Amino acid sequence: MRQIIQVKTPVVEIDGDEMTRVMWRMIKDQLLLPFLDMETEYYDLGLNNRDATEDQVTLDAANAILKHRIGVKCATITPNADRVREYNLKRQWKSPNGTIRDILDGTVFRAPILVNNIFPAVRNWKKPIHIGRHAYGDIYKNQEIRIPGPGRAEIVFTPQGGGPPIRKTVQEFTGPGVLQGIHNTDRSIRSFARACFTYACDKKIDCWFSCKDTISKIYDARFRKIFDEEFKDKWKDKFSEAGIIYFFTLIDDAVARIMKSDGGMLWACKNYDGDVMSDMLASANGSLAMMTSVLVSPQGCFEYEAAHGTVQRHYYKYLNGERTSTNPMALIFAWTGCLNKRGELDHTLEVIRFAKTLEAAAIETVQKGIMTRDLMQVAEPNPKNRTVDTGDFIDHIRQNLEKRLFRGGPS
Ligand code: NAP
Ligand code: MG
Repeated sequence: MRQIIQVKTPVVEIDGDEMTRVMWRMIKDQLLLPFLDMETEYYDLGLNNRDATEDQVTLDAANAILKHRIGVKCATITPNADRVREYNLKRQWKSPNGTIRDILDGTVFRAPILVNNIFPAVRNWKKPIHIGRHAYGDIYKNQEIRIPGPGRAEIVFTPQGGGPPIRKTVQEFTGPGVLQGIHNTDRSIRSFARACFTYACDKKIDCWFSCKDTISKIYDARFRKIFDEEFKDKWKDKFSEAGIIYFFTLIDDAVARIMKSDGGMLWACKNYDGDVMSDMLASANGSLAMMTSVLVSPQGCFEYEAAHGTVQRHYYKYLNGERTSTNPMALIFAWTGCLNKRGELDHTLEVIRFAKTLEAAAIETVQKGIMTRDLMQVAEPNPKNRTVDTGDFIDHIRQNLEKRLFRGGPS
């Protein structure tokens, strides 16, 4: 008889849309609920329910993560004009990820899931490269002006409570052009630095931070200075104890070094750099579905998710009755990340062991050549390789999981 593993404290479960919602159910039914006695606080962020609750459910879900500290989120649709028509929405609701990030003020960490039969495009990468993306400000919270013709563009800061404004000329336009204003805050940059140093210590990996302070002598320089201060004040000793280093370099130098490295570091990136570099990293590692993602807040809250979206194209096929070969790996790893952290906070070793065993069973499945279509296209050729649909893939993982749980070990 199999023993059911008790998860002591509830986790916040955030359901989503389309193909990922379908896979979410399959993962719970096949890989989690048969083995775990787990209570979740459930929030349905499916687009219809966000519309019905005027998006209140998204705010409630974010606040629930602040309360329980650990959440797991399915991918959700960020509605555009097409989706407003498709779902007959009252409004074009904001991105749930954006709303949750604003409330948690977090940093997003992404790392690839490595398997031994899919080589990264960069052959010398042996260990996962983790990216920490600052999720506040810069161009994602900008103001822009289309300059119609000649004139002076300025930036002005007006101090609250009086005092002379600070004014600088950006450009004397002689013809049409464009203008952009961006900002960040010391507070958010400091939380970003803290989140990165915490993550590096947690994983025992070096932390690299890069920006362009030689060109941006005030803006980017502020990021560098805050990272330096924070490191010297609070992290230096913890880093030497863990045998890891903090390393600053210019963004272009960082890119060049990363390409020649064997991986295994956290690369802390400003918002835009992180957006671009995490997609490069995902595709260099084979598939978006082999990328994990976690939002870490400065108060120590964690929200685990997949890095990909709702896989809309596959969902329409599914609705037509086709069995799709959509990859559930990143969603499975979102659940294992969540359970592993829950186990750490609750000091429940058997929950941690279950999470690690499920990860090992999923990796073993791919390494034995049982794969979804996206992986087949990038895996090392082998006569044993076989493309399966999502249901069969999950069945194989379950068989491996049961064998391992029965045998009693994650390795
Ligand atoms: P997507 O869902 O990530 O899918 C883009 C393409 O990547 C897919 O068409 C598929 O390629 C491939 N792909 C992604 N995940 C896969 C998986 N698990 N297995 C196999 N292939 C996978 O991005 P999208 O189509 O641009 O966006 C769809 C919806 O997701 C949008 O409404 C967007 O708002 C939302 N979105 C949500 C999140 C989030 O909640 N975290 C993130 C991004 C996007 P093929 O079609 O070539 O097989
Ligand atoms: Mg992106």
